[in-house]
Amino acid sequence: MEKTVTLDDIVNLCLRRGFFYPSGKIYGGFRGFYDYGPLGAEMRRDLINDWWNYFVETRGDIYGIYGAVITHPKTWEASGHVESFIDYIVRCTRCGEEYRADHLLEDAGIKVVDLTPEELSRLIRENNIRCPKCGGELGDPQPFNLMFSTHVGPKHTKSSIAYLRPETAQLIFTNFKNVVFTMGATLPFGIAQYGKAFRNEISPRNFLFRLREFEQMEIEYFVNPKKMDECPYFSSIEDFELYILTAEEQEEGVDEARPARVGELVETGVIGNKWHAYWIAESLKWLERLGLRKEHLRVREHVKTELAHYAAQTFDVEYLFPFMGWKEIEGISNRTDYDLRRHMEYSGEELHIVDDGEKVVPYVIEPSFGVERILMALLTEGYTKHKKRITLKISPRVAPYKLAVFPLVNKEGIDVKAREIYHALKNRYRAYYDDRGSIGKRYAKADEIGVPICLTVDGQTLQDGTVTLRLRDTREQVRVGVDEAERRIEELLSSWPWRRGY
Ligand SMILES: [Zn+2]
Repeated sequence: MEKTVTLDDIVNLCLRRGFFYPSGKIYGGFRGFYDYGPLGAEMRRDLINDWWNYFVETRGDIYGIYGAVITHPKTWEASGHVESFIDYIVRCTRCGEEYRADHLLEDAGIKVVDLTPEELSRLIRENNIRCPKCGGELGDPQPFNLMFSTHVGPKHTKSSIAYLRPETAQLIFTNFKNVVFTMGATLPFGIAQYGKAFRNEISPRNFLFRLREFEQMEIEYFVNPKKMDECPYFSSIEDFELYILTAEEQEEGVDEARPARVGELVETGVIGNKWHAYWIAESLKWLERLGLRKEHLRVREHVKTELAHYAAQTFDVEYLFPFMGWKEIEGISNRTDYDLRRHMEYSGEELHIVDDGEKVVPYVIEPSFGVERILMALLTEGYTKHKKRITLKISPRVAPYKLAVFPLVNKEGIDVKAREIYHALKNRYRAYYDDRGSIGKRYAKADEIGVPICLTVDGQTLQDGTVTLRLRDTREQVRVGVDEAERRIEELLSSWPWRRGY
């Protein structure tokens, strides 16, 4: 069945049910900023915890850190952000409105990837692109640095300028030595971090997709450059299947990904080394575990012109949004030793590690996930509408509530029993109790906010001690004893997806 979910559907659900609110709405809104509502805040927490659990807690070779948001300005000189983290803006010569040059071209159906200001200028003239607001003529593209800056301390001088981090990654590089020394880390190992990042986007757009304040979950995995093909976990993902679109294929005009085995992609040289391949597969395994379908995920290699200055090879994991096509939700780069070497150069500190008796500056593979983008993919994947009735079929791992408890009616002691069961279960599952309106309306609301299981207490409960468990995705109802309800709920939640009907 073709999904017809639109961006409006997702936005409306999020606003109506308290997943997200436009920030500063009482003051007329604040473009590029969203606040998490109660349901979104729960989902975010679960998503980050699940990521931490999968990539940090249960592995043993990855250390978690949590760095500062306002960061030493030298960090960003070393990383190259002060110099080259820029977009080009054009200003309307008549009304003064400013636009991102490449977005204006994209909106006119012209595909652009990392063009020089001269090329942007030429394309704007050739295609006679004018101010979308007033039709006025546009000026020449000017560079605009996307980092937010602030002043630290009372003196507002040039030397007091600091930056809000535009990515969490650099805090990992600047703490590399600390982790090696304090934790006794040896190669290969990783450092993980989640947290806010800030980019002064010229034109925030597509709801949660291009925000000025957003959250990242990043890993830098350090490997001896001589051992990029010595990955002890490789056999566990060798046969993993994914959809790939290589740089070469894109240069030949292909835009459809093809299925491939990870092992084959390494053998044929599509993915540069086994560690890079391993991290691509691990990332996809986690995204699929969250409920994103394999067919809705593809791995697209960056073509030369879009490759960042620090990367030897980058692959984006893209999700197929029915309303805006394939969009990046994760990037996996081979950043080589670029960052550590730059920080050595700018700080004068030695950032080596000893491996096999030799001092080495490790290479790094970086899986970098966008929290809001993944949340948007999960909401899109789960959103189903049937005869105006919305069901959010999201994984119990990230569902804002795992359980809802209802009394069929508010009398004859049924409500008393239902509250008793609710209080017994709510310490184990994030649950809510609802006795308002009809039972049908309560089920409808629970479906809409993605509650996987509803537990209903009725007259029969008082007689034989059984309750009804209703499954969101199939509307199936099972009758179980109160004393075994917890075990059954646990079984059901851990065996999701129950049935894939969409
Ligand atoms: Zn104008």
